[in-house]
Amino acid sequence: MTHRIVIVGGGAGGLELATRLGKTLGKRGTASVTLVDANLTHIWKPLLHEVAAGSLNSYEDELNYVAQAKWNHFQFQLGRMTGLNRETKQIHLAATADENGAELVPARSLDYDSLVIAVGSTTNDFGTQGAAEHCLFLDTRKQAERFHQQLLNHYLRAHAGQDESPTQINVAIVGAGATGVELAAELHNAAHELAAYGLGRIKPENLRITVIEAGPRVLPALPERIGGPVHKTLEKLGVTVLTNSAVSEVTAEGLHTANGQFISATLKVWAAGIRAPGFLHELDGLESNRINQLQVRPTLQTTRDDNIFAFGDCAACPQKGTDRNVPPRAQAAHQQASMLVKSLKARIEGQVLPEYKYQDYGSLISLSSFSAVGNLMGNLMGSVMLEGWLARMFYISLYRMHQVALYGMFRTLMLMLGSRIGRGTEPRMKLH
Ligand SMILES: Cc1cc2nc3c(=O)[nH]c(=O)nc-3n(C[C@H](O)[C@H](O)[C@H](O)COP(=O)(O)OP(=O)(O)OC[C@H]3O[C@@H](n4cnc5c(N)ncnc54)[C@H](O)[C@@H]3O)c2cc1C
Repeated sequence: MTHRIVIVGGGAGGLELATRLGKTLGKRGTASVTLVDANLTHIWKPLLHEVAAGSLNSYEDELNYVAQAKWNHFQFQLGRMTGLNRETKQIHLAATADENGAELVPARSLDYDSLVIAVGSTTNDFGTQGAAEHCLFLDTRKQAERFHQQLLNHYLRAHAGQDESPTQINVAIVGAGATGVELAAELHNAAHELAAYGLGRIKPENLRITVIEAGPRVLPALPERIGGPVHKTLEKLGVTVLTNSAVSEVTAEGLHTANGQFISATLKVWAAGIRAPGFLHELDGLESNRINQLQVRPTLQTTRDDNIFAFGDCAACPQKGTDRNVPPRAQAAHQQASMLVKSLKARIEGQVLPEYKYQDYGSLISLSSFSAVGNLMGNLMGSVMLEGWLARMFYISLYRMHQVALYGMFRTLMLMLGSRIGRGTEPRMKLH
């Protein structure tokens, strides 16, 4: 019987893996490859802060799983994984409802020989009082669009000229990691664009942005020489950066910090910390950690089941030679997907599986059109600092690499050309 590979989660890692396995094992008939996702379309998660600010129209950059499956010789199943039976080798999918709440696709089970779990992560509010109720998150396209709509609504109300409508908006962003600082810069840019389009009753300087960070500096996970210039640029843009300020409570009016400050905010975004989806916790006896990530070995097989692999943000993969895990980044998901293409082929052929070693190629932070800062790392060149235009080009190339993995070089070039032409005919900001 044909080997059945089921991949759950069509994100930065899972979709690349399904596409590449489909084009090889699927096309040759060596294996049947099935991708399962809770949604019908994919958008690369690192673009979500641009969707929130309105500088990117998510409908232009989304990919439809049904079409991608057809073009790349794999099957697609719509559904949210909720459970697993390791003995019968089945995953359970919940029923999917349409926009009116009626059942669209029923609950069902899928059989596998090799299962790959790549369901990503969501933001971790660490149970902070009021955060879930009053903050917006940037985990999905829907959430990013909701933020954009709320921001735009303030501008539209003010534009309508009602005297009582406020002409100042306070935005608070919790977390000065990459998402928080990039969102702050994108919002600053959005304020200028909105004014340029005539929605200028809220002046650019009256979109007040505060970034609140519990740690001692911005970008705590990256080297100081990246954090320093980013901090300076944010301050130059008029963004208030509060460090050593852990948020202890969120209310409708604003945020309280453990050191006694109160930050008044109309729009509040939580962009600090991650955790894997809750259903992974003790999933039919698989080992998981305190943030629900599945514990895996360097082969990316789960510690208690050789038939089940996990990778990307939802996996706790030890980083060889250190006491740390591989960081939850698109770069790691991409590398692991590339290795798993080889691993699954080796598994079917009964060969020894390769082991994953994280290669840090550096980090790039894009501060909208204002600046980009980062470092590139390689075996020969060591670590090279980049800033400005060149850093921005490398930043954009990360997304282009993801597109090449999904569409191939020729179609990626066509997409780039299409978006360049579109720039002349569409507003620079999404205004609806
Ligand atoms: C705003 C933002 C900016 C970022 N910027 C960067 C950056 O600049 N550089 C960088 O390296 N990283 C960045 N990241 C992190 C990066 O996006 C993640 O590390 C990466 O997307 C992880 O890939 P993944 O395949 O593990 O999961 P994801 O890309 O999150 O994909 C998970 C998929 O699983 C699906 N899914 C979830 N649960 C289920 C379920 N139960 N059943 C079926 N399907 C399910 C989801 O619909 C999704 O399609 C950013 C993240 C955010 C939120």
